[in-house]
Amino acid sequence: MIARLRLPRSSPRVRRSARAYCEADNWSFDSRYTQGKCPICGWQPEGAPNAPGWLALVNRVDWQIVGLFLLVDVLFLLGLVVANAAGLLPVGHPPLGGPSTLGGVASGVRGP
Ligand SMILES: [Zn+2]
Repeated sequence: MIARLRLPRSSPRVRRSARAYCEADNWSFDSRYTQGKCPICGWQPEGAPNAPGWLALVNRVDWQIVGLFLLVDVLFLLGLVVANAAGLLPVGHPPLGGPSTLGGVASGVRGP
């Protein structure tokens, strides 16, 4: 039996055209791209979406918090890089990219 893989259909609410008609201006508009208002007089249709689906999703994210965590991550990574280069990390290996002390010398100092 072959399993059928299908992408979930987007809900018809998203696909539906959100056109509204302003009686005062004799103007038909898509409220998703006019922030839910008539672009001429500002009339707001009842229950009209004020953004396309993807924009409504993006608007739900608090981008300042996301940026703050990203900044903290980058600073932590920079701190690790600097501490590694300065040899401050408490691990038993030399700084990455530096000379090795464990196996770098093939043979020890020989006597005469
Ligand atoms: Zn209008």
